[in-house]
Amino acid sequence: MRYVIATPAVRSLSISGHDDRFPVNRIFCVGRNYAAHAREMGSDPDREPPFFFMKPAMAAVDAAAPTSIPYPAMTANFHHEVELVVAISAGGVDITPEKALDHVYGYAVGLDMTRRDLQFQARDKGRPWEFGKAFASSAPIGAIAPASERGHPARGAITLSVNGVARQSSDISKVIWSVAECISVLSRYDALAPGDLIMTGTPEGVGPVVAGDALFASIDGLPSIEVRIHP
Ligand code: MN
Repeated sequence: MRYVIATPAVRSLSISGHDDRFPVNRIFCVGRNYAAHAREMGSDPDREPPFFFMKPAMAAVDAAAPTSIPYPAMTANFHHEVELVVAISAGGVDITPEKALDHVYGYAVGLDMTRRDLQFQARDKGRPWEFGKAFASSAPIGAIAPASERGHPARGAITLSVNGVARQSSDISKVIWSVAECISVLSRYDALAPGDLIMTGTPEGVGPVVAGDALFASIDGLPSIEVRIHP
């Protein structure tokens, strides 16, 4: 097979404790999955079914080692959102919650970096969120911890600090929709595929960063990440 232009590079993430890498297909993101964050965004979190948006594979940045991402264009309100990331190893449709975790390769710490001003402009006009959410390098993600070795985390502290100051602090047990439920709902809309990632939503405390800031994000039991913002 010959292509008329250079083929796009495969985006991939590190695996904790292994040399092999995880190729990234699509990135699904869960909206408003922590009640306190839904409220800070101006929504009523009670019993709304989960909703999803997406980022392209080129949003993924391997943050297994300390890394940096650029402050993006066209925003004056660039926000951090720390999230539990689920890596899908086996695809499927109409996956039941009971079987959903069989489709998981592992888990990582990730950042759903957001141009909040563009997201809110889109939201308020009923327009798509892409330019607020789905841009290059908007998803730094740490090394993936294989579920076969580390299990399936259901509780544990999730934190984010900026320049050493705590910004987000919660527990992944506070999600409205569990990992298994998110996988099940997603698989009713479209076939999940190996290489898909699911970013499972952020707790309260999101806020802006500027060039030069250093972000530290952690979830109990998973490799933490350090991400600097460069101009
Ligand atoms: Mn998010």
